[in-house]
Amino acid sequence: MSKVQDIYGAKVFDEHTMQERLPSATYKQLMRTIKDGEALDLDVANVVAHAMKEWAIELGATHYTHWFQPLSGITSEKHDSFIDPIDDGHAIMSFSGKELIQGEPDASSFPSGGLRATFEARGYTAWDPTSYAFIKDEVLCIPTAFCSYTGEALDKKTPLLRSMAAIDSQANRVLALFGEPRQRVVVTLGAEQEYFLISEKDYEKRLDLILTGRTLFGYSPCKGQELEEHYFGAIRPSVNNFMKELDEALWELGVPAKTKHNEVAPCQHELAPLFANANRAIDQNLLTMEEMKLLASHYGLTCLEHEKPFEHINGSGKHNNWSLSANGKNLLDPGDNPIDNLRFLVFLAGVIQAVDDYQELLRMAAASAGNDHRLGANEAPPAIVSIFLGEELDRVVQAIIKGESYHSAERAEMDLGVEELPNFLKDNTDRNRTSPFAFTGNKFEFRMPGSNQNLSDCNMVLNTAMAKSLKEFADEMEGKSGEEFNAAAMEYVANTLRDHQRIIFNGDGYSDEWQVEAEKRGLANHKTTADALPCFVSDKSIELFGEFNVLNEAEVRSRYEVKLEKYNKTMNIEIRTMKRLVRRDYLPAINRFAAEIAENTWKIKQMLPDADLEAQERKLRALVDGAARINKLLSKLHELHYVSLEVADQQERANMNAHQIVPVMDDLRDAVDAMEIIVGHEQWPVPTYNEILFYT
Ligand code: ADP
Ligand code: MG
Repeated sequence: MSKVQDIYGAKVFDEHTMQERLPSATYKQLMRTIKDGEALDLDVANVVAHAMKEWAIELGATHYTHWFQPLSGITSEKHDSFIDPIDDGHAIMSFSGKELIQGEPDASSFPSGGLRATFEARGYTAWDPTSYAFIKDEVLCIPTAFCSYTGEALDKKTPLLRSMAAIDSQANRVLALFGEPRQRVVVTLGAEQEYFLISEKDYEKRLDLILTGRTLFGYSPCKGQELEEHYFGAIRPSVNNFMKELDEALWELGVPAKTKHNEVAPCQHELAPLFANANRAIDQNLLTMEEMKLLASHYGLTCLEHEKPFEHINGSGKHNNWSLSANGKNLLDPGDNPIDNLRFLVFLAGVIQAVDDYQELLRMAAASAGNDHRLGANEAPPAIVSIFLGEELDRVVQAIIKGESYHSAERAEMDLGVEELPNFLKDNTDRNRTSPFAFTGNKFEFRMPGSNQNLSDCNMVLNTAMAKSLKEFADEMEGKSGEEFNAAAMEYVANTLRDHQRIIFNGDGYSDEWQVEAEKRGLANHKTTADALPCFVSDKSIELFGEFNVLNEAEVRSRYEVKLEKYNKTMNIEIRTMKRLVRRDYLPAINRFAAEIAENTWKIKQMLPDADLEAQERKLRALVDGAARINKLLSKLHELHYVSLEVADQQERANMNAHQIVPVMDDLRDAVDAMEIIVGHEQWPVPTYNEILFYT
């Protein structure tokens, strides 16, 4: 392997490369755009574009693309070559500032949730200079935002950037109260990516995996994860080679891939990068997902990024580690001196308030057809949002709520806000895996998002809700200073914690008692996507996003529509695949096997009239009954499916999918799976979990 230092960021037009390649004045101007959001004029853009093109061509690029994230969540790209033919029949390679700054993809093929009809049909992409351009497969990729001509966001990135701007301005108001100068506050994000790797040969034989990303059928394997041998276990050689190539590819792209290991389920793995500015971290996560899929094929493997590829086996999440950084200083890091601690408590209370007030929106942001199979399945957090603080911090919070001094076994009594917070809060390793939103020492980890999701949605919600908490604090405190401010701030923190303590839960999130307790506390428990989405278009949500200019009402409504449609379309594909597989593969296999047994049993009877054939007859009965049950459920599913397609209202259709159709799909699956374990191995039409999950 080449030296890591040499390859790291080799394909990225990063700050280092900019400084090297750009005239000093241009570089400075561009930095002001990147760091302070100053507008960039076309002359500067022309110089940047030229330097970028020269750099890209040296690295073998022939094309460029505006790389963006339409509402489908995945990335889109359309490649344009740099070629510019000239009169003498030759061509030069050109790339202008205008081409760098703005592009015009045909917006009509991307989901817009009705926005295009309401506004302007065309959309354009606009360069996001805060995320670096990079080269992928001989294409210069320029991260961009995607908007309609009237300025409505048609992508995931735009509202994320707007929410980060809201955090920046509100956090600065709060920091000013602590006597700090205006500085750039950014959201930091570390996205841990879980995934499965299975053999390509098995994958190719599973139409359900190919079409829906998950197995719609499959009995649990004889061996599951009970021996707990996979987590952090030795990595099999083909996977190890894959991981090495992946690391190298990511490092070249400037993705700080840091940790890789086996996960709990067989064939499950994880990759965690070092955290970065949330905008960049999300771009990097999308690149990571893309590279994983691509590189797996080099090793005869297929990478599954679905949230729940296998029933009875842990699903995959994408932990969203989130914090705020002011000029490199982590605002969720309890500090070493009293005033830092007060600041920490203000931001902590802000998060607690934000998560309590907008718990439903956070749940909504993690909702998808795939994640419905994972949340609450005793392996992932429940569908109820709550916060885990850890024992030590919880005691601190309880003391503040009660207005008592804080007692710690190890330390002397503390007068909070004026004394030091216990230092070991930072080393908080007490990880409660059952909590959806956990404080882990100096950041919060939101664990609801599924492995397949674009993290922009949940960060948009979190950032905007946090901006609101900070705004309320600043509104109330501005004008106060010194001791008066300290006392008022501490009182504000105590009141906020008291008002929102219902969201704090340090117990077992998997337990049935928690479901009951959460209901008593008035916490939302939206079990399915159909239940989770409507809060997005509530007045409370529209007001929140409007207040901070993150999404206007039309944008909120359009996003809700897109999410609903995506859910219903996914369900439709799953139902169709299920019916097709049952009719054409499973039922014929079961019937063939039954006929074979009948024939053989009959033959034996002819030759040995007194033979004991009870077992064969019983098996035949089970197969025939099983096929009958499958046929009944198939008809039921078919009927409901057709009714659902007639339901014009997308929310109603989603309700029907979630509450009427999914239960029938579950029953049908059970009926088929029950046959899998009695039909002969040779006759079963697809590889089973035993084979897929335990290959050599
Ligand atoms: P886990 O035990 O959940 O795997 P890790 O210690 O591996 O947790 O860290 C998870 C992620 O949190 C990493 O991507 C790491 O870079 C990120 N992280 C650490 N500090 C911060 C921070 N201040 N802001 C955002 N993410 C952070
Ligand atoms: Mg984690």
